[in-house]
Amino acid sequence: MRRPPITIKCECGESRDVAYGDRWRCERCGRSWNTQQIPAEEYDGLLRRMRRHQVEALAAAAIAIAVMVPLIAVVSARFILLTPALLAAWLFFLLPYWRRRYRRTARSAPRWELHPE
Ligand SMILES: [Zn+2]
Repeated sequence: MRRPPITIKCECGESRDVAYGDRWRCERCGRSWNTQQIPAEEYDGLLRRMRRHQVEALAAAAIAIAVMVPLIAVVSARFILLTPALLAAWLFFLLPYWRRRYRRTARSAPRWELHPE
């Protein structure tokens, strides 16, 4: 899974997305920022929340497949006609809903006060 980057806002106004564990030297003012000042357990907590959303989305897909495949294979092949409707529901309702939640978690991510080195 891609780890969410950390946005560092420099005191001079520059900002940059940096991977956790990396350091960044501001091009404009030369201050050096180190994301390792963030406690690992707090960053891990954020990762866990993001991952839970992904697991939920996968679980929803797995349930849909687990329901549809026996219906098509055992009950009637006509249930395959429902697949486009399910896919549409997935695309237009579930996916945007999931993305909104995912973004909300990302936005509500904790803010850390770093100190230039
Ligand atoms: Zn700067």
